[in-house]
Amino acid sequence: MTPLPVLGPESCAGCGHCCEGIGSPVAVYASRRNYGGDHPFRPTDLPAELIAEIDDHFAGLVRGQEPQERCLWFDPALRQCRHYDYRPPLCREYELGGRACLSLRKERGVAIT
Ligand code: SF4
Ligand code: SF4
Repeated sequence: MTPLPVLGPESCAGCGHCCEGIGSPVAVYASRRNYGGDHPFRPTDLPAELIAEIDDHFAGLVRGQEPQERCLWFDPALRQCRHYDYRPPLCREYELGGRACLSLRKERGVAIT
């Protein structure tokens, strides 16, 4: 018998649960003296004001040392990323409707519609 497909959410609108409890993936964009002007992870067109915000916020902390509650770029009122087009690779790999997404939504009691 062919298993029925698992229906997933159609969009991330109003969810944002995968942006909470994982720290700030954008910490990988922080400036490091040893990177010089050739940052290996940061998009080349990331605006200077966003770089300044990240550098001010993390103040030398490296990824994993930052507060874990929610990502710096997460807007808790709108429950969405403030700079989605610049989100890091980790966030791009997290698939809408994928196993991790569905599992997290179930754990947090978010309807899968
Ligand atoms: S990927 Fe899934 S858990 Fe993350 S915001 Fe979108 S719907 Fe929510
Ligand atoms: S960069 Fe955006 S998509 Fe990624 S965890 Fe932060 S708020 Fe969420």
